[in-house]
Amino acid sequence: MLARNLPRPVRRVGSHVLKRTYADLNAPAAQSFKVNSDRLWNDIHHTAQWSSPNATTEAGGLSRLSGTIEDKMARDWFHDQVKSLGAKTYAINATGSQIATFEGQDSSVPPIAMGSHLDSVATGGRFDGPLGVIGALEVVRSLKQQGGKTHAPIALINWTNEEGARFFPPLGSSCVYAGQSTVDAAHESKANNGSGETLGAALQAIGYVGDGPNTFQDFPMSAHFEIHVEQARTLETAGKPVGWVESWQGISVFELTLRGEDGHANTYAMHGRRDTLVGASKIIAELDTLAYIADGYTTTTNIQSGPVGSCNIQSWTKVVFCLMHQQLAGLEGMGSQIAAKARSIANMHGLELDVKRIMHLEPGTFWPEAIDCVKRACGDRGIGAKTLTAHDSTMTTLVCPTAMVFARAKDGISHAAKEWTSKEDCAESATVLGKAVLNFDQLLKNKSA
Ligand SMILES: [Zn+2]
Repeated sequence: MLARNLPRPVRRVGSHVLKRTYADLNAPAAQSFKVNSDRLWNDIHHTAQWSSPNATTEAGGLSRLSGTIEDKMARDWFHDQVKSLGAKTYAINATGSQIATFEGQDSSVPPIAMGSHLDSVATGGRFDGPLGVIGALEVVRSLKQQGGKTHAPIALINWTNEEGARFFPPLGSSCVYAGQSTVDAAHESKANNGSGETLGAALQAIGYVGDGPNTFQDFPMSAHFEIHVEQARTLETAGKPVGWVESWQGISVFELTLRGEDGHANTYAMHGRRDTLVGASKIIAELDTLAYIADGYTTTTNIQSGPVGSCNIQSWTKVVFCLMHQQLAGLEGMGSQIAAKARSIANMHGLELDVKRIMHLEPGTFWPEAIDCVKRACGDRGIGAKTLTAHDSTMTTLVCPTAMVFARAKDGISHAAKEWTSKEDCAESATVLGKAVLNFDQLLKNKSA
């Protein structure tokens, strides 16, 4: 394992002192590696055509929910690309993830994987997810063109339902891969709009339930690397196009259900009403305040109530919200504080309350030797950063060495049509991804020598 903070060596040549940078520590194969920026940029925009015409996304955005026809089109394109690149194997697993492998010099070594997601949120941008998959594809193309063969095989993965925008929970396939869920549970993932549709049925309908490997045990990887847009302004503020991601913020998602009493909206006396939407609105306001007190983040992401109609007091309400914090103690403290507030508000309004934590990801750090590969690949062009949200990599890191590459995001915006990463920064992040993989490959080669 390489030390996390390697000293900057000084090379003396004659009487001159040449300062070496971190980038000089890249593996020989990584030093001259570079992707084709035109090809990468064209593919990002070419694949953005598969976007729902019904979505409210503004021009330039992307709406490609998991398991939709647009998702199928993007998947089919990915299939064609890996096939034409000469993938040694190609498989679709039970949760719809597409996994392609490319030969290395030693097929007994588990592959080094690069992956992300082609699905988007309903009102998304073109870079969150696609840059990770298409950037990885571009790395394989460029490697092939530059004639180098890696020691370990390479895997390319398009993970299913990373966003969780249509079906809950997010990280739908990578959490099965990491042993945090099961294929059955992933298939049962329910639509957030309350329609009763499931991820399993949607994948079946587009022909993307396959018999490929589902878990780390079925398909071990030597490492997993992922490019993602930063979704914050650390890189932009520092004037750096790329970054190595050291850690992630913890996330808890809660589902809260309130039950009150039916009644006429116009005639029921105000005093004594058991209106669940009034209770829910007070809880939502408390959630917003809590983020400032606890120095975390809170967001209410879904509200449903009924009975539907213009003259019914809302006798049931379901609210889904997430809490985010850099520290585990902070995250858990926020969870218990909002649960206590919700209880007192429910009592005040005579409401039954049920609170369930439906997802929990503790904050953590990626693997030092994988981070180091990205850090050397970035050299002086990058800085260390942390991600404020979950990614497929926050699942793979539970089972194999994992690290992420950040690409500078304009104004830190994501999950919006305004999401933007320049052509140069996209290319630089993909070049860093390729160099990081080659650096890791060198570690594997050294180990087996
Ligand atoms: Zn993403």
